[in-house]
Amino acid sequence: MKKSELLSLNLLEASELLNKKEISSKELTTAYLENIEENDCKIGAYITVTSDLALQTAEKIDTMRVNGENLSPLAGIPFSVKDNICTKGIKTTCASEFLRDFTPVYDAHVIERLKNFGAVMLGKTNMDEFGMGSSNENSAFHITKNPRDFERVAGGSSGGSAASVAGKEALFSLGSDTGGSIRLPSSFCGAVGMKPTYGAVSRYGLVAFASSFDQIGVISRNAADNAAILDVISGWDCRDSTSSKQSLNLSCDITAEKLKIGIVREFFADGIDEDVLNCIQNAIEFYKKCGASIDYVSLPSIKSALWAYYIISSAEASSNLARFDGVRYGRRDENYSSIEELYKNSRTNGFGEEVKRRIMTGTFALSAGYYENYYKKAQRIREKIKSEFEEIFKKCDVIISPVCPTTAFKIGEYRDNPEQMYLSDIYTVPANLAGLPAISVPFGTDRDNLPVGIQLIGRPFGEAVLYKSASFLEKEACGDDI
Ligand code: GLN
Repeated sequence: MKKSELLSLNLLEASELLNKKEISSKELTTAYLENIEENDCKIGAYITVTSDLALQTAEKIDTMRVNGENLSPLAGIPFSVKDNICTKGIKTTCASEFLRDFTPVYDAHVIERLKNFGAVMLGKTNMDEFGMGSSNENSAFHITKNPRDFERVAGGSSGGSAASVAGKEALFSLGSDTGGSIRLPSSFCGAVGMKPTYGAVSRYGLVAFASSFDQIGVISRNAADNAAILDVISGWDCRDSTSSKQSLNLSCDITAEKLKIGIVREFFADGIDEDVLNCIQNAIEFYKKCGASIDYVSLPSIKSALWAYYIISSAEASSNLARFDGVRYGRRDENYSSIEELYKNSRTNGFGEEVKRRIMTGTFALSAGYYENYYKKAQRIREKIKSEFEEIFKKCDVIISPVCPTTAFKIGEYRDNPEQMYLSDIYTVPANLAGLPAISVPFGTDRDNLPVGIQLIGRPFGEAVLYKSASFLEKEACGDDI
């Protein structure tokens, strides 16, 4: 099979060919590694490429297959991992100067699972430092470029993961989503990105940004692949106290005509790019045509969602990142004459600007005298948003919305304007505040032929309905009959 054909296979296709021994994992893995070698100098999706390890794993899986062992559909499939997910013996930098040389001594839960299922890790992907950002411009190492247009950002913070999938440098990728970091880059690069229900996937081994929001999820070429991977990485884990015992049942036979779709009025205020709006309207029209019922619903507290998210996530980040003190983990500054100076210099020179901004905002929001006005108020808003979503889901199965008000912006466009950058997250943070599952699925393009992502938000543990609803859109986009 030609290299371009190998790189075009989705998970289900590749797994079938591997099973029939029409292709080998070594062939497939080599095709990806060669593509990385050729194109990653332009895209910058990876921080670390683990070629030798990948080839060794692929060969091992091929031998097992030849020996007639019973293998999972993920066996021999090449994937990439965001660099804030711990990988034993392989650097995990969080794209931070602080962790430039940090090598974990254990695997994250999701990595253990994928290894047990025989998937082949190609390397670790670039991100905004510690997950803070929406464009990948906050990486301490390099900027990831959008494979659809090298002058534009890939989105963030899982930009390297989304770009690796869109640029055919991995068949799928693991990312993390605290306020939109899986959905936003998926939307910008034209991939399918799922942020699962909070607690559905163990966070053991995910470097914490804001623990009450952080969730590992999957970026893939299509919804069916995404579901197959989530099925493997989800499930209870005793090492994460917020991991849920409720299992995800990912099969669902809902038809498009039975779907009850909600449109949040407040989501369609000013500020959405005309082409993005058009794509959403086309998606809504498509669902209508299929016989789905469409209801206008309201989330009045949404106007405070972004504010509440940035207060709470920064507060949690300021506490989580206190462990980086130059003593235990990562970088230690060479110049110090007291323990205070060691902390101060290590943190001053180890963290980038955005990370420092969040630590300061979070510390301020938690400080005596301000706690009531900021942190506590933000928590109250979070509760209100949760209960408003609950009301909506009494009558709707899914909420449809944009992922972002715009498509991928130009590199540097928002660099000196963090507030403008934060506005990119306006549609994604509500699902994190409420712990709900949400998926981004490509549907249409803008005037510059850049992909537009549609967001579908579901009930807790309602991932199956989201995958099904997303697959209807995918089929329409490909011109297939449902
Ligand atoms: N852009 C958001 C932030 O900077 C979301 C980040 C994320 O989901 N990791 O906080």
